[in-house]
Amino acid sequence: AQPLLVVRDLQAYYRTSHAGVRRGIRAVDGVSFTVRRGEIYGLAGESSSGKTTLIKSIAGAIKPPLEIVGGSMEFAFLSGYGGLHRAARAELERIRWRHLSYIMQGSMNVLNPVRRVRSSFVDFAYPHIGGSLKQFEQLVVAHLARVKLDPSVLTAFPHELSGGMRQRAALALATICRPGFIIADEPTTALDVVVQKEVLGMIRGIQRETGSSVLFVTHDMGVHAHITDRLAIMYAGRLVEEAATAEIFRNPLHPYTKNLISSLPRIGEDAPRAGLAGAPPNLADPPSGCRFHPRCPLASEICCREVPVMREASSGHRVACFAVNGGDGA
Ligand code: ATP
Repeated sequence: AQPLLVVRDLQAYYRTSHAGVRRGIRAVDGVSFTVRRGEIYGLAGESSSGKTTLIKSIAGAIKPPLEIVGGSMEFAFLSGYGGLHRAARAELERIRWRHLSYIMQGSMNVLNPVRRVRSSFVDFAYPHIGGSLKQFEQLVVAHLARVKLDPSVLTAFPHELSGGMRQRAALALATICRPGFIIADEPTTALDVVVQKEVLGMIRGIQRETGSSVLFVTHDMGVHAHITDRLAIMYAGRLVEEAATAEIFRNPLHPYTKNLISSLPRIGEDAPRAGLAGAPPNLADPPSGCRFHPRCPLASEICCREVPVMREASSGHRVACFAVNGGDGA
């Protein structure tokens, strides 16, 4: 399939100063991947691995202290930009909702909290759809029905809705203009399991119908197993592995991914399995070489010294690990 988004060697740092000393938190540090047309591409990794920073950078939602310090991004629906953060405000307004929708963590950010739900639809989607307001409202009501919402939500304020209803309203708003690219950050994490399954089914249904691509971010591997086509695993600001989701679960190669998968709870087991020893690194001063080496059971001398690059281990399965790929560094 054709690429929709190509990200190359992206670096995004938080520039902070402490007691007069300037520091950079290297939250995204040399990330490359491609999102294909019509796929759900998943991004996994523990808290603080840089997932949100990565998708904020892609969505152009950059504000200080976050800075893009290197790399490039190319979108199929844009020409001539090195990423949305470089686009002018008017251009971003043209693109947002119509070509790219970003469902941030906590749907209150998508729906305007101080306005009734109808106003958010009119403000964000109507300019792209046009026609008479009456026709637009009919379209909204029909689209809400697809996510099993009653038209009465339009006159409610977001805080008057349950979490699940709010998330479905946000999903309806994010998809009504049929954007080619939907970015969703933990869209179901706050929901109970039944509602979560329902919302995931809706995302999959809308994605199939519109043929859009989805970049789906969550730390929850169970959710990835349920919805994503391909999956990238992030650790301490870098991707360590990428493959078809089923392949990652069947044949994880990176020691970090192996641990993520073997520590998933199994049916019939009461206690969760042991997680990884040690803590994720401080991204202001990350370990040399492979950032995972201090916690890695397979670490050897080269891992402390050189940065492993992502290489294909088998067709479509990339991994950044000297123990898997042999000893050639970046
Ligand atoms: P989570 O699932 O908890 O949201 P994440 O994988 O999305 O985690 P990020 O939120 O991208 O991770 O954070 C990556 C790193 O950047 C963390 O070390 C975090 O402390 C740091 N960071 C995030 N926001 C800021 C900020 N505004 N200023 C400084 N550092 C930040």
